[in-house]
Amino acid sequence: MSTRWESYCNTTTDLLQVEPHIDSYDTKRVLEGWTVVGSGVYTKSDVGYISALYRDGVDLGAAQATAGVVNTDGEWHYASGTDLLTICTTSAPDTVHRFQTGQAWSDVKTAAVSRASEFVRVYLNKPIMRRVGVGVQAESLREATLQALLSTGDRRAGELLALADREGNVAAALRAWSVDPAAWLTRVREPGDVLPWDAVDPGVTREYLAAEYERALRGETSPPCRVGTGCRLCGACG
Ligand code: SF4
Repeated sequence: MSTRWESYCNTTTDLLQVEPHIDSYDTKRVLEGWTVVGSGVYTKSDVGYISALYRDGVDLGAAQATAGVVNTDGEWHYASGTDLLTICTTSAPDTVHRFQTGQAWSDVKTAAVSRASEFVRVYLNKPIMRRVGVGVQAESLREATLQALLSTGDRRAGELLALADREGNVAAALRAWSVDPAAWLTRVREPGDVLPWDAVDPGVTREYLAAEYERALRGETSPPCRVGTGCRLCGACG
């Protein structure tokens, strides 16, 4: 397998992260209404093309070459010309078992991963290579500190801006500021605290953010957004 065909996503867990409703891709359908034609042998017509058959969720394996040799429990044959499925099962297929046709779960996952990988390849228009190590892009501590001060600041942050304008640089403004920047930055905010930006309504409810915060503290993740599906989970989509 070339690196061109490698995928970032190859487990059920990964798939559930990006598609919580991956189960809905399982297109197996139940086959009911069998006609007994011999000792333990049943047929069903008009079943549509069948390449795999499952009994109670178990893959019955490859089909027999002809319907005439279907005489042992678990054997089956599909005649595409007449659209007729023949099976052999020692217990009644309609009342004791559940026969299904469709794709195996592993095939469904593989197809989903392949499709997703192909979308990425088409978008990038170049091979997807294995990522070696982890790259980190960080900004300077000074810039991050200033951003944190301004983004968590109340009207006293305005005083800092005025000082920076007067002093000509941020470092001098921080020294002249009446607030201790370290204490400001490290102060623990409780979910119920009144915040400077409470007057702004971003759509996302405060309760949702608090719940997400609690989940993060517990090390839990949340499913990705499903924008355009009518989701009202956080409130941002109206
Ligand atoms: S409401 Fe919109 S933004 Fe919020 S979780 Fe749902 S899809 Fe995501």
